[in-house]
Amino acid sequence: MKTILVTGGAGFIGSNFIKMMLGKYPDYNIINIDALTYAGNLENLKDIADNSNYTFIKADIRDRDKIEDIFNNNDISEVVNFAAESHVDRSIEEPELFLTTNIIGTQTLLEVAKKYWKVNPEDKYCKNYKESVKFVQVSTDEVYGALGKEGMFVETMPLMPNSPYSASKASADMIVRAYHETFGMPINITRCSNNYGPYQFPEKLIPLMINNCLKGKDLPVYGDGMQIRDWLHVSDHCCAIDTVLHKGVDGEVYNIGGNNEKANIEIVKFIIKTLEKSEELIKYVKDRPGHDRRYAIDNTKITTQLGWSPVYTFEQGIKETIKWYLNNIEWIEDIVSGDYVNYYDEMYKGI
Ligand code: NAD
Repeated sequence: MKTILVTGGAGFIGSNFIKMMLGKYPDYNIINIDALTYAGNLENLKDIADNSNYTFIKADIRDRDKIEDIFNNNDISEVVNFAAESHVDRSIEEPELFLTTNIIGTQTLLEVAKKYWKVNPEDKYCKNYKESVKFVQVSTDEVYGALGKEGMFVETMPLMPNSPYSASKASADMIVRAYHETFGMPINITRCSNNYGPYQFPEKLIPLMINNCLKGKDLPVYGDGMQIRDWLHVSDHCCAIDTVLHKGVDGEVYNIGGNNEKANIEIVKFIIKTLEKSEELIKYVKDRPGHDRRYAIDNTKITTQLGWSPVYTFEQGIKETIKWYLNNIEWIEDIVSGDYVNYYDEMYKGI
């Protein structure tokens, strides 16, 4: 049995990843550590909560003692770091939290993983001496900054993040890279585009629009709605991370995209049409400061070198996603009836 430590596994992508891995690899143990912030929800994992290959530990990735304890008591050979503050709007309100979680949290994990790799096997403190602990950092295409009308992000581009969120993720990428260059740690960094699919927290564009549409509420669209993003189905993303975990070349960065460039307003209109609502629900609101205009991902490296490519078309993925939210109204209701109400009212006051 090998044991993979997944951080942030109670969030959107992490929970999808854990379920996929447990289904695919019956001989892997997965330990999920998550601080259960507003974005962490154990309901996402209720189907596998009793799986004997799965353990949940409530822990903050910044808590070094706790992380050491977890490494000391478990034979961890790989870390996949999803844990992060992930919402750009919140990073504008509260940048410091993004810096401590996304940068210091990542460095804490690296430091502990390094200790279990580098430490002397004779050292009694270290029960689980390893040749290496592989570290996969789940990053974002937002670290590259914004594109003009043409061009795509490639892995060799300089990082030019524009929001506190993307700056914190870019900083984490730098520190992960430094642990490879300085200490020879086996690492990979993945940079993906916007994910969508089941279990996404309803502050993000697609579940926000679906939920508001279902309730006949206004659909807040930033600026002119012409911001372009590449959209990646979460299950394609999880397969890509699995591929990088098993086949990624040490020290390499891999872009992951869905080959689905869409303007935000196109997505909003698609959801309206599918749910047979009126476009009169659309309310254009003041644009987010520093809002990047266009992102696009060049997938060539991961497709040609590791053999992964996305299988979902956007039309298929979005239809399935809408259906999932329609069939899981209780899941979304549980979230939107709590603290989220205050957050929503504050964000979109006046509409
Ligand atoms: P999410 O917000 O849904 O989940 C994040 C999880 O991390 C939550 O369960 C939360 O409780 C946990 N967490 C937060 N702070 C923590 C801490 N200090 N210690 C331990 N756990 C903590 O995010 P997501 O959408 O699932 O994103 C996962 C990763 O993928 C993030 O690193 C994000 O930057 C990256 N990413 C996401 C997208 C996207 O479209 N969702 C795109 C690109 C990159």
